[in-house]
Amino acid sequence: MKLIPFGQRSGFRVPQANIGGMRLPQDTGTAVALLRHAIDSGMRYIDTSRGYGDSEIKIGQALKDGYRQKVILSTKWSPWIMRIEESDNTSADCVRKRIEESMKRLDVDYLDYYQVWNIDSREHYGQAVAKGGMVDGIQKAISEKLVGHTGFTTHDKVENIIEYVKETDWCEIILFSCNILNLIYEKAIEAAHAKGIGIIIMNPVAGGLLGRDSSMLKALAKRVGAKTIPELAIRFLTSNPSVTTVISGISKMSDVDSTVAAVDRGHFTPAQMDLLRKILAEMHVADKVFCTGCRYCMPCSKEIDIPAIMKMIAQYRFWGFQEPARGGYRDLKSPKADACVQCGKCEEKCTQHLHIMDEMEYAIRNLASA
Ligand code: SF4
Ligand code: SF4
Repeated sequence: MKLIPFGQRSGFRVPQANIGGMRLPQDTGTAVALLRHAIDSGMRYIDTSRGYGDSEIKIGQALKDGYRQKVILSTKWSPWIMRIEESDNTSADCVRKRIEESMKRLDVDYLDYYQVWNIDSREHYGQAVAKGGMVDGIQKAISEKLVGHTGFTTHDKVENIIEYVKETDWCEIILFSCNILNLIYEKAIEAAHAKGIGIIIMNPVAGGLLGRDSSMLKALAKRVGAKTIPELAIRFLTSNPSVTTVISGISKMSDVDSTVAAVDRGHFTPAQMDLLRKILAEMHVADKVFCTGCRYCMPCSKEIDIPAIMKMIAQYRFWGFQEPARGGYRDLKSPKADACVQCGKCEEKCTQHLHIMDEMEYAIRNLASA
């Protein structure tokens, strides 16, 4: 894989596919072999966290025998997501304790990156950058050469992130969740990239959903010469000039091989990207004006989980995920659409003015069938 600048602030260069350490195999030996296979295949940046079970420990094992020197190692923590001790907080002293703990778990004397894990609100941001807060603690570790660089991960509102990147001179990378089914962060990604921040994308295949069969996405992949839906999903991201790299949560050798192969097939042309954006936008618009999941229609007198069924209908109708939608419907614990007595009460409350009773019949026709 070709190396590109990891943003403009760190001086690193990275390939466009790297290692997500959140779903490593349970067995340590298997995890070590997998991680080394990923590194030998050209992946370079490793994303892990104090909160990903024993991921740090397995990565530490994999980085022995000369592998540490081949990678850019990054871990993260925040007390919002995980308290190791009851007294954990956002202070510089506490983050220092967590940095040293992660270094021990990874069995390394230096971390290339230590990130603030999930700045998800203005309150989090304020606490992270406050005097004597997490960022100060990380900066101190940088000045003592325990850590090289820093950044943050986020699921915050787009407008908040755009504000943060205007002033976060300390931030060298941001980890976003983004994929063709959920492109809401594109504006924030563009704003961060424009500031020279390296952009890492996690969840490129939507938690595995984009590894499932979809008649519509398969047809779309074919139109731009992608062999598979995951290849379409990964190349759509890596072809975005604001995106530096995707990280895949690797759990088997084929996760590594297929991701590297997708990246090696290169970027889509501007014309292909225009076509993809146009078609994806149409699919997103159709989905957006459908059920928002607000649950105002509930409760149903027959205890049907209306929003859950509507979500499966959307998967089926707008994205062509026939089998995942049918599987989800089959596994529903609550009463299914055939319990509907067409009382109409839900329709009176629906914020989107949807014809829920017709949709229940659609579910019976399409989702309940074998
Ligand atoms: S119309 Fe059907 S889905 Fe809606 S509240 Fe009545 S029984 Fe429930
Ligand atoms: S009220 Fe309408 S939009 Fe909201 S969850 Fe129910 S069906 Fe969906």
